[in-house]
Amino acid sequence: MNCEICGVKEPAVLALLPIPKEDGSLNTIVCEKCLEKSTAYCQKHRQIHLGFADGTTVCPHCVDEMKARTRHLAESLQDRIRQVSKPDEFEEVSEHVKGASYIMNWSADEALHHFLITKAMRAKLDTEKILSIIIKERLPLLLIN
Ligand SMILES: [Zn+2]
Ligand SMILES: [Zn+2]
Repeated sequence: MNCEICGVKEPAVLALLPIPKEDGSLNTIVCEKCLEKSTAYCQKHRQIHLGFADGTTVCPHCVDEMKARTRHLAESLQDRIRQVSKPDEFEEVSEHVKGASYIMNWSADEALHHFLITKAMRAKLDTEKILSIIIKERLPLLLIN
């Protein structure tokens, strides 16, 4: 197989990046050089990003680091989100929270914090900034989309 970015033939290392292709497939096969240059690869953690349906990606270790740095934002997060949500919106957010809480053994606040950080990093926005948008504009569903 050849690198789908630079076209090099039969490279020793091939990696699967979460970059959608024009043919509709969700991944791109790349050589080591293209991997390290890709925006879907974290140099710091030597880690391929997680990909999302909208084409954005994020490094899971960078998410963990940002969570540790912004732990204070997790406090009462569920209550803050509830206050700005319509009932059906809050229910939709809660369904996502339940799934993540169950798998990762997180509290609802911790799960929402995780969604918040992931969203901020995918959107390349400051975490406090995206939280203030969600609260002020009453857009709780931003957290899970
Ligand atoms: Zn390549
Ligand atoms: Zn990283």
